Amino acid sequence: MNENLLSTQIEYLKGVGPKRGELLRNELGIYTWEDLLTFYPFRYVDRTKFHKINEIESDMAFVQIKGKVTHVEMIGQRRARRFIATFKDDTGSIELVWFQGIKWIKDKLIPNREYVIFGKPTIFNRKFNIPHPEIDPVDEYKPTENVFQPIYSSGEKLKSRGLNSKGISKLIKTLLSEVQGHIPETLALPVLEKTKLLAREEAIINIHFPANQDMLKRAQARLKFEELFFIQLRLVKHKLVRSNLHKGIVFPVAGHYLEGFYKHNLPFELTGAQKRVMREIRRDLAMGVQMNRLLQGDVGSGKTLVALMAMLIALGNNFQSCIMAPTEILANQHYETLARMLKGMDIRIRLLTGSTKSNERREIHEELQSGSNQILIGTHALIEESVRFKNLGLVVIDEQHRFGVAQRARMWKKNTVPPHVLVMTATPIPRTMAMTVYGDFDYSVIDELPPGRKPVKTTHATDAHRLRVFGFLKREIAKGRQVYIVYPLIQESEKLDLKDLMDGYESIVREFPLPKYAISIVHGQMKPADKDYEMQRFIRNETQIMVATTVIEVGVDIPNASIMVIENAERFGLSQLHQLRGRVGRGADQSYCILMTGDKIGNEARERIKTMVETSDGFKIAEKDLRLRGPGDVIGTRQSGGLTLKQADLIQDAKILEYARNMAFDVLNDDLELKKSENYPMKKQLLKMSTESIDWGVIT
Ligand code: ADP
Ligand code: MG
Repeated sequence: MNENLLSTQIEYLKGVGPKRGELLRNELGIYTWEDLLTFYPFRYVDRTKFHKINEIESDMAFVQIKGKVTHVEMIGQRRARRFIATFKDDTGSIELVWFQGIKWIKDKLIPNREYVIFGKPTIFNRKFNIPHPEIDPVDEYKPTENVFQPIYSSGEKLKSRGLNSKGISKLIKTLLSEVQGHIPETLALPVLEKTKLLAREEAIINIHFPANQDMLKRAQARLKFEELFFIQLRLVKHKLVRSNLHKGIVFPVAGHYLEGFYKHNLPFELTGAQKRVMREIRRDLAMGVQMNRLLQGDVGSGKTLVALMAMLIALGNNFQSCIMAPTEILANQHYETLARMLKGMDIRIRLLTGSTKSNERREIHEELQSGSNQILIGTHALIEESVRFKNLGLVVIDEQHRFGVAQRARMWKKNTVPPHVLVMTATPIPRTMAMTVYGDFDYSVIDELPPGRKPVKTTHATDAHRLRVFGFLKREIAKGRQVYIVYPLIQESEKLDLKDLMDGYESIVREFPLPKYAISIVHGQMKPADKDYEMQRFIRNETQIMVATTVIEVGVDIPNASIMVIENAERFGLSQLHQLRGRVGRGADQSYCILMTGDKIGNEARERIKTMVETSDGFKIAEKDLRLRGPGDVIGTRQSGGLTLKQADLIQDAKILEYARNMAFDVLNDDLELKKSENYPMKKQLLKMSTESIDWGVIT
């Protein structure tokens, strides 16, 4: 087998050459024959289906109609010249339009002869027409040749060099004739046998030129499985290697701290989900394997309490623990919450952030090394080299999406035996995506909110409603409620954002004047101490309105604040909107979220706003987000390193993913290093993936 054939540069394919080669590289990222081979159609058109003219709708990508040309005419002069044919079937008529190649088509079209036409309907002057359709006389049309016609994405530049979908398809046909018999299998034979999947070569041929519907399905199934399987193989391998490598610290007992807390300090009954997650964590910690657990739970689901109880287990086994939060505000708040919850328990707990004074910092460092400090709460400051523990047993990372992989990894090194790690995130991601991006983590989810929460009422308002919105705010403030008004923050221009915020702030001050109203303002460019001062005023209910940028997005918990106004809501992503809304709805009162936008917003933004108005379920929102933006954008490059799937779809292919993950476990439990000769193809494929430098967010 000549596998090197596939690494041939694309320009050396017959029909490509240097110019088209460059286009393929620049426009589609196709460098080699293999790249072209795995450039899959994004859809297929069933050429056995015919439409009637009266069935045409504007969102149809293609139609195929049988009928007759009844009339032709030339319209316009010079560049505006076009050739129009009226095409009729028994349900109506439609115009076919040519702007180019007019002479040729004019000679070819014979009135009253029956044709099959195929093309994309567009609307012009409120009527449908089909520009540049494919056209074949009925008696010459051979649908069997092209039952499923593959459609490839192309672009203007490519099209101008003949590389429209059809042109690309032609290249692939040429390529297949060159490489057939040389497309290597990547799955081990036993895996192929167990899964009953198509061989890779057969799958690739059929993904481009499906023999029939069944073969197309099987080809897709094979390629989806393969794609998901190798991601899982890699993640599961990391996971297994790691648990072999690091014998985790064993916490044999739940310990008297947890017991005491449970008996005397627990302010409320745990929810069923909190109890379940605690059992999962408890089991991990006793097992002798290092825990690496992702805890997902919607905003307000009570993750902090779970974190605290896990830390108390560490304490009860004579180990220190720490919790790292992404912002100073959040770290402060955790500190206060935990200190309050632990009142009377004689536990030494400290706060370390960027604004901790050097005296205090030194003191904390000493306490950590002597072991007298038991729980440390802080920001990124915890990662610093100078922060050393006597015996760190558990690291909690809150709002995990704010931290990079490297930052997490550094926390591992804070103890000779790596500490247990619990990462928490309130940006729910669909389970399938969690399995893919955090596939080397164990996974817990709090899927239940504490009892008595009223769903936040969410509405969409435009600038035209602004006065009414202000009136509403005044009435709610009169009832004693507090209000957040949030402005977007776009990284590119902090100055401009700040200006937006200050303009907004001034108009709010005008609308809500002293002495009746007091207003706090918090933004990213303020000194931490000033931020904290403003925050504290709001927490103590000395101010009724908090004007802020998204610095308050994560974690902040002020139950009396029951209204969230989001300005320029169209500029926020779904998960951010959900996070922001999660700041309200924490007390007993009815809460509201008002999404303010301009009158004109784009379709996708409208879709986001609609989703927010319709549902408060974080997982549903996450799924919608995934649909709107695709996995790479949702998870952020920082986390995923670039998660591009060619065939598989993380929403639709959940079952295949689950299956692929189980198969990865089966294979690796039997042969972790893939040393068996039967597993060689998979070993090779893994190696190839790692040299393609995809970083799946795995800690090594
Ligand atoms: P998040 O999961 O967003 O971090 P928090 O841990 O901040 O949520 O909890 C949100 C609020 O719910 C807090 O005020 C917390 O005290 C409260 N809470 C947590 N668990 C329970 C429970 N089991 N019953 C009632 N209230 C709870
Ligand atoms: Mg939280």
